[in-house]
Amino acid sequence: MGVEKVILVTGGTGLVGQAIRELVDSEKPTDELWVFVGSKEADLSNLEQTKSLFEKYKPTHVIHLAAMVGGLFHNMSHNLDFLRTNIHINDNVLETSYRTGVKKVVSCLSTCIFPDKTTYPIDETMVHLGPPHPSNFGYSYAKRLIDISNKAYFQQHGCLFTSVIPCNVFGPHDNFNLQSSHVIPGLIRKLHCVVEKGEDKFTVLGSGKPLRQFIYSRDLARLFVWVLRYYEDVEPIILSVDEKDEVSISHAAEKIAEAFGFSGHLIYDTSMADGQFKKTASNAKLRQLNPDFSFTPFPVAIKETVDWFKENYNSARL
Ligand code: NDP
Repeated sequence: MGVEKVILVTGGTGLVGQAIRELVDSEKPTDELWVFVGSKEADLSNLEQTKSLFEKYKPTHVIHLAAMVGGLFHNMSHNLDFLRTNIHINDNVLETSYRTGVKKVVSCLSTCIFPDKTTYPIDETMVHLGPPHPSNFGYSYAKRLIDISNKAYFQQHGCLFTSVIPCNVFGPHDNFNLQSSHVIPGLIRKLHCVVEKGEDKFTVLGSGKPLRQFIYSRDLARLFVWVLRYYEDVEPIILSVDEKDEVSISHAAEKIAEAFGFSGHLIYDTSMADGQFKKTASNAKLRQLNPDFSFTPFPVAIKETVDWFKENYNSARL
């Protein structure tokens, strides 16, 4: 069989992009050619560079992951940059996809862009029902505009441009920088330092009580490929573990400690803020459309991530 689809993955060098690459490298589909690009190959906030990239690879399908992403502090102090850069990236990718006849685009929203004041569980119908958390409103409104654009491209031009809404992602190739990382890679990096120094106290910021849904990047990769091949709706779809698999930060910290074989003390620094207590999202739509999907057990996913980090310490994003 010849190549029928050329799939361009923007943000292909990141956490999610690398997990998709690993998956398709193992599957070796003969009818699909996958191309993974990072910002070095094209700055997608620049229209000319975006056009040249599409001219070079001539994609028939796009998985659009590229985004300016950052931790809480960076977001809070740079809402304008997050808003403008992401609006430019998204508009350039969607408009160039339309102009070059791309058949399908799957873009990426996030559960953290949902209304700050809401009822739980959150579902796909609630994306625009109230302002996002003030700390990251620039990032959130830029992401929400992807959904608006998708609907407008469908209404005016009949395009199949859709989006997915992942919960918190973790896995190999994450950002393990102590200042800008998310909670799981941050804790892994921190405990690695504790173990290296031979210390016996692992300090977790906050009470450890807040609840979060975490998806393993390798599971998310399988879901992205499923969405690309089989999900034919413009409306977004939440890609999250089940509500019953929401875990506390303390549970995550304990599993990380187990993965390191750490037998010292876990300490909760309650002088630090906890953030929202929960942000539970419903994956009922996913479960209805893809009932047989099985998620990697959380402790297994944590162990694989810790092992990857230890083995790749010298090349990891620190
Ligand atoms: P990473 O930070 O790991 O990767 C970001 C990617 O975007 C990199 O490949 C980066 O390229 C690329 N990129 C950034 N700016 C530009 C630019 N101006 N032009 C071209 N490429 C650019 O992110 P993740 O893999 O974690 O996130 C992927 C998507 O998933 C994002 O859209 C994010 O918003 C979303 N998401 C992530 C969650 C998470 O918990 N991580 C949760 C929910 C959604 P390079 O590295 O080469 O500079």
